[in-house]
Amino acid sequence: MTTLSFEFFPTKTDEGTEKLLAVRDKLAAYNPEFFSVTYGAGGSTRDRTYSIVKSIQERGIAAAPHLSCVGDRTADLRDILNEYQALGINRIVALRGDLPSGSGLASSELRFANELVEFIRNETGDHFTLEVAAYPEMHPQATNFEADVNNFVRKVKAGANSAITQYFFNADSYFRFVERVEAMGVDIPIIPGIMPITNYSKLARFSDSCGAEIPRWIRKQLEAYGDDSASIVKFGEEVVTDMCRRLLDGGAPGLHFYTLNQAEPSLAVWKNLV
Ligand code: FAD
Repeated sequence: MTTLSFEFFPTKTDEGTEKLLAVRDKLAAYNPEFFSVTYGAGGSTRDRTYSIVKSIQERGIAAAPHLSCVGDRTADLRDILNEYQALGINRIVALRGDLPSGSGLASSELRFANELVEFIRNETGDHFTLEVAAYPEMHPQATNFEADVNNFVRKVKAGANSAITQYFFNADSYFRFVERVEAMGVDIPIIPGIMPITNYSKLARFSDSCGAEIPRWIRKQLEAYGDDSASIVKFGEEVVTDMCRRLLDGGAPGLHFYTLNQAEPSLAVWKNLV
């Protein structure tokens, strides 16, 4: 069975929240396995993440809050885990997180995601299904691919149940990563994270910072469209749909959409597939 999940980020205004709840309702019609909600490293969105998570859970759909460890005290992490348990949450996306310009990493009690996974397991046993991040094109701060793969395997061994990848536009990078970690004994589902293409300049900026590669042929075509956003959206939908089809045909267990709090771009791709 192909799993489907969607990711949101916490909104800042009441108006934004109202719009997000409408997006939630639209996407809920497609029976996603869960909606995940990002968390600002160091606790910067703690209350807003909680409130969106609560509104999803109240709609009767599983919510999966992200939780990062860098810059957060373990006492605060413990409180957050307790709050989520009380709310009936049973899935968490466990991350290291990114503090601005790396500040706080050295002084953090927990410095890497494998330590957070271990902490959550020690605190709450098997209560939570734990998702971790995977980087088919390598995490931008990793010294090399092999070290990054070893660190991924360490997170899995610490008790992760499933992984969601950073987005990519080259299906082969996903297949290579999966093959590599499976050869090292990893047998958890690794779900491709899918970024719909709707705006070239934002995508290019974000991809540079998170280490996701936009293949030259896609970049050149998107550049050529200039301000023609209708063509960008149409081309983006075709490219991402084709890639998703290859991923699913090649055995990917599901898709996780980075919605950027919009329903249509993800749904356009999903509807082409089902
Ligand atoms: P880790 O697995 O800890 O890896 C971080 C780096 O350290 C890698 O280079 C790794 O190779 C290296 N490393 C790992 N373990 C060790 C170790 N024990 N010793 C030495 N080196 C090690 N960020 C947010 O702030 N909030 C979010 O909600 C959020 N959601 C995300 C969701 C997904 C699906 C993904 C893919 C990313 C998300 N991010 C989020 C971004 C993420 O926090 C950053 O990419 C961050 O830099 C790394 O997080 P991680 O959990 O992968 O870290």
